[in-house]
Amino acid sequence: MDKLIGKYEIKLVEPECAPGSARYGAQVTLETDISPVFPYLNTLMKNAWYDHENHVLILREPEQAYALRPHEIRIGRVNDYSQAQRLATEIVGRVDAAWQERNSITPLYTQRKLPGVMDIFKLLPKTNCKLCGYATCLAFAADLRAGKVTPDQCPPLSSENREKVLQLFSGD
Ligand code: SF4
Repeated sequence: MDKLIGKYEIKLVEPECAPGSARYGAQVTLETDISPVFPYLNTLMKNAWYDHENHVLILREPEQAYALRPHEIRIGRVNDYSQAQRLATEIVGRVDAAWQERNSITPLYTQRKLPGVMDIFKLLPKTNCKLCGYATCLAFAADLRAGKVTPDQCPPLSSENREKVLQLFSGD
């Protein structure tokens, strides 16, 4: 089987802007450079955000976000190590499946720009209530843009604005 990803290590990480918040993401460190698969994932995933020049691919899904870089996959939100393991196995499987199917996929190199931090920030409640574990809404907006957190990690965010945030990423 033509697998792209070999060995990897998983560790829980706290948001850089919110140490001690007891909220975690997961960092999957990869032995292999997975950037060759990014243009294929970009074709397959409508919700992918791809920066070909900087080798970053962000997958934003309703309940989860993944940021893929050459030797790393960041998973936005996990409760514990066993969930991190399960999600890591799942995303590694998806990456490998895209790699195995690459001969039947037209790669898409188009660079899609991420929305600006301030565009995201404007839609947040801007109360700095810290319920997300971040000290400020601006710090949360920056990590949301980077695929480290998802909009539903801001409890006071209205469903209307949550949709608007997701629309910023969908490019619709
Ligand atoms: S939970 Fe939402 S409103 Fe509160 S600080 Fe975080 S981003 Fe701002």
